[in-house]
Amino acid sequence: MRDTLAGPRQLIKQLHAVMAAPLEAQERLDRIVRIIADNMVAEVSSLYILREDGILELYATHGLNPSAVHRAGLRVGQGLVGRVAKTAQPLNITNPRSHPGFAYLPETGEDEYNTFLGVPVLRAGRMLGVLTVQNRAPKRYDNEEVEALQTTAMVIAEIAGTGDLEKIPQSTAALDISRQLHVAGVSLVEGVGLGRAVLHEPRVVVTRLLNDDVEHELNRLETALDKIRGNLVAHLSRDEVKGDGAPRDVLEAFLMIAQDRGWARKMADVVRSGLTAEAAVERVQSDNRARLLRSTDRLVRERLHDLDDLANRLLRELMGRSPTSLAQITGDAIIVARSMGAAELLDYERTRIRGLVMEEGTPASHVTLIARALGIPTIGQAAGVTSMVESGEAIIIDADGGDVHIRPSPDVENVFAEKVRFRARKQAQYRRLRHLPATTRDGQDVTLSMNAGMLADMPHLKESGAAGVGLFRTEVLFMVAPSLPRMQAQEQLYRQIYKGAEGRPVTFRSLDIGGDKILPYLRKVEEENPAMGWRAVRLGLDRPGLLRTQIRAFLLAAAGQELKLMFPMVTTVAEYNAARALVDRERRFLHTHGYTLPESTKLGVMLETPSLLFELEELLQVTDFVSVGTNDLFQFAMAADRSNVRVAGRFDTLSQSFVRMLKRVADACREANVPVTVCGDYASRPLEALCLLGLGYTHLSMPPAAIGPVKAAIRATDLGRLRARLWPRLEPGRGNDDLRHLLSRFADANDIPV
Ligand code: PEP
Ligand code: MG
Repeated sequence: MRDTLAGPRQLIKQLHAVMAAPLEAQERLDRIVRIIADNMVAEVSSLYILREDGILELYATHGLNPSAVHRAGLRVGQGLVGRVAKTAQPLNITNPRSHPGFAYLPETGEDEYNTFLGVPVLRAGRMLGVLTVQNRAPKRYDNEEVEALQTTAMVIAEIAGTGDLEKIPQSTAALDISRQLHVAGVSLVEGVGLGRAVLHEPRVVVTRLLNDDVEHELNRLETALDKIRGNLVAHLSRDEVKGDGAPRDVLEAFLMIAQDRGWARKMADVVRSGLTAEAAVERVQSDNRARLLRSTDRLVRERLHDLDDLANRLLRELMGRSPTSLAQITGDAIIVARSMGAAELLDYERTRIRGLVMEEGTPASHVTLIARALGIPTIGQAAGVTSMVESGEAIIIDADGGDVHIRPSPDVENVFAEKVRFRARKQAQYRRLRHLPATTRDGQDVTLSMNAGMLADMPHLKESGAAGVGLFRTEVLFMVAPSLPRMQAQEQLYRQIYKGAEGRPVTFRSLDIGGDKILPYLRKVEEENPAMGWRAVRLGLDRPGLLRTQIRAFLLAAAGQELKLMFPMVTTVAEYNAARALVDRERRFLHTHGYTLPESTKLGVMLETPSLLFELEELLQVTDFVSVGTNDLFQFAMAADRSNVRVAGRFDTLSQSFVRMLKRVADACREANVPVTVCGDYASRPLEALCLLGLGYTHLSMPPAAIGPVKAAIRATDLGRLRARLWPRLEPGRGNDDLRHLLSRFADANDIPV
């Protein structure tokens, strides 16, 4: 027995030869463990592969009882091997039997050994198995040996990537590499999508592993590092990040990581052990990912995202790649991203996108707004999803519930394919309702309009049969623009929207920016509570230049027709009056300068803050119409942040207090003879829409996809009976009544599809 390591380069060379040889998969693994044992002067070398059922099955061994291969196994977390898999860390110990984690497998005969070194086999951060060496003599493996075994594990991970391991008969179920996974996230845009995963800014797959010129590879690594650092420095001098502020902080932190000597040194060390520069980047990043993914600290995980991003930039630099498009797959695509900007989503070819799943993303984030406008089923907060799936693999997202199925079994795939077909049939039914009126059984006409935010939404008017646009969120136009649209550009956009509406009424909303709706080209103001901060009409009144420009563009675009414009987040009547005064001023200006004005101008208020409920009578004397923004009104009424998943679903939207609030608004508007609409998401849910109907609302605005289901419910409802059931339950003293239950029972009993 030799007592020195022959050197990692020699080991890698031999492994390389075995990989290239025309061998059966099992024979290749047997040779590999033998070479490892020889080179590492170990009596035992074994490879365990993680199966679908969480068992680490012994796949090959040199030194242990050969009859235990495919017969012995441990659970993740069980024994020393299981511990390596669980922690994704090397374990290097002497006298393993005295270790608290030791679990003896009698069939292997391993009780004679006094040293143990195990390393995880990781591919892109995913656990594939464990590689071990053992010796009888009670020695401790040195760092060089640990490194060598880790490098070997990476070669084995490559074999797994080729599918070679799958050719080996398994003792039972499929292997980890083809393992079906389920990830739970949060539904952001409802729907179901099946397709092939496309990793947004995907990891680059390293194909060349072993180097034959260390100096050359070290140079390549250094040059690539210099290049990405240089790019970041250049980025820092761009106009939008000049001065202080969040973008600059983020970039500086990023640059600091890129300049971190420890990171560069680790990669250089791996290159010296025989890997190419790109393989070294991936090796070090695999370790980082496995280590940091276990952290529950958000900041630590954020750092992982930075490291991932940097590693990707480095890999792309080294391998001359550009970020991926849908071109890498054929057919339907599900985009899998850590996070994504709204404009980035628009870069993809819409017709092939069947879904979007992100590790981040909240209901109110920009990308969600865009995905909703485009009707793309979307799931957010799917932890670790980018590390679990490779581009091109099958993936299903069930955004009704928030479930992601990676590499689904045929059974699961069939169930979801059926669900998609069912939805399509339903949509076809709704399409048939398109030209029928939204009238209750007892003759109450209801106007159903749609919400929009982009020019691309306008064709939905015809497809959905909407009466018009009840809410046009103009900030979405601004969010997807590369820079602040000037007056003429805005006028042009609004004209196009009128054109797209083909004579149907459009209600524009002035810019609702601030809060989490950030325009990339405007400086972001850091606020403790942005939803209650300097946003919407508050910002518009404090920075009247922005609001006046927008108002002028509206007035010009609506020349000769009706302009309907409302202001978001109005909190006092005085604010509304101030906004109205800006419109009057612009009208006077345009009139004096000979421009054609709109034929009529109707100005409205979005009722989104509870304070306005206590100034309703005064408000209704000055406003032309009211539109209830239930998304914000609910969050402020319940003090529950709409984008915080912990509390957003905590209170029932059909709770007595909120329903009474909505009734008060409906009653006051009716008495004052002021038109009122509901344009928050409330109106898009059939049961809530029934409730609104019962309260007296006859104009609802919602995403186009909701119009069919809501219309179907309205057409099946007898409004008189509904009111007879609902109203007595809203009387004082009935505070504990469960209105959701009441309305569901009513719908069931009357065959109303909700
Ligand atoms: C609302 O708050 O209900 C609303 C329609 O506005 P947004 O969702 O754009 O804040
Ligand atoms: Mg709102």
